[in-house]
Amino acid sequence: MQAWVTEQRALGRTIGFVPTMGALHQGHISLINRAKTSCDVVISSIFVNPTQFNNLEDLKKYPRTMTSDIEMLGASGCDVLFHPDVDEMYPKMEKGHWHFGLVSSTLEGHFRPGHFDGVLTVVKKLFEIVNPDRAFFGEKDYQQLALIRMMAKEEDLPIEIIGCPIIREKEGLAMSSRNMRLSSLQKEQSLLISRVLFEMVERSKRQTPAAVLAWGRKQFDSENAIKLEYLEIVDGAIFSPVSDWREHERIVILIAAYLGEIRLIDNVTI
Ligand code: AMP
Repeated sequence: MQAWVTEQRALGRTIGFVPTMGALHQGHISLINRAKTSCDVVISSIFVNPTQFNNLEDLKKYPRTMTSDIEMLGASGCDVLFHPDVDEMYPKMEKGHWHFGLVSSTLEGHFRPGHFDGVLTVVKKLFEIVNPDRAFFGEKDYQQLALIRMMAKEEDLPIEIIGCPIIREKEGLAMSSRNMRLSSLQKEQSLLISRVLFEMVERSKRQTPAAVLAWGRKQFDSENAIKLEYLEIVDGAIFSPVSDWREHERIVILIAAYLGEIRLIDNVTI
């Protein structure tokens, strides 16, 4: 991988990079398409990163669909697939530790201890191997994207981090590899997640953050099939709670919820 990139750089080509854990869908492909618009060559990686799973069952059951992934990457015009194995990536199976205040400790950081350390460890390793000019990440994982930007800055990495919008199913559900594990009934039930988020954005035009949040949480009280883990309205940069809409440049509403054992996340920006 390093030799190929060195060769491409010598030819004056810019390198775009899209890291993934596979089980590809149109959300991933949108990142490849975006990368192709601004880079000469596009590399995607597929690596189910063990250090970011705080739940062993979730790691075991993570969907793996290599044959169709390769087909989708080929059709999208991605130039290279980097698919390392676990021993290559982790000779010592160690992960680093990063602390970025609330951004690393709240929400996903709180409910999935160690998750972001695993994410930032693997992204840093991948960046060192692939050495891209630009790397593309989805706003679907809003908190992850914020932390990757912070890590790249902290580590002085000469890589431009580009955030791309969430791609949704027609009915609103944010595309996710984990959606493959939902039954058709669960898929129907999961629509409540995006519906509530969209309605909260509407309500933000006429109600206080506290009122909007209370309304949002209440919508899950009567839906037994969905267990809300968190629903919060926070500042889009520092992740502090929002009590006045006018005090923040960017505000984001983030949610995590379980359908059975399948954990889904989503967000909307105001
Ligand atoms: P994953 O394979 O889930 O680790 O995701 C790889 C990349 O794809 C991450 O940058 C995600 O944020 C992004 N991604 C996943 N789902 C979507 C989506 N529905 N829309 C846009 N980007 C996404």
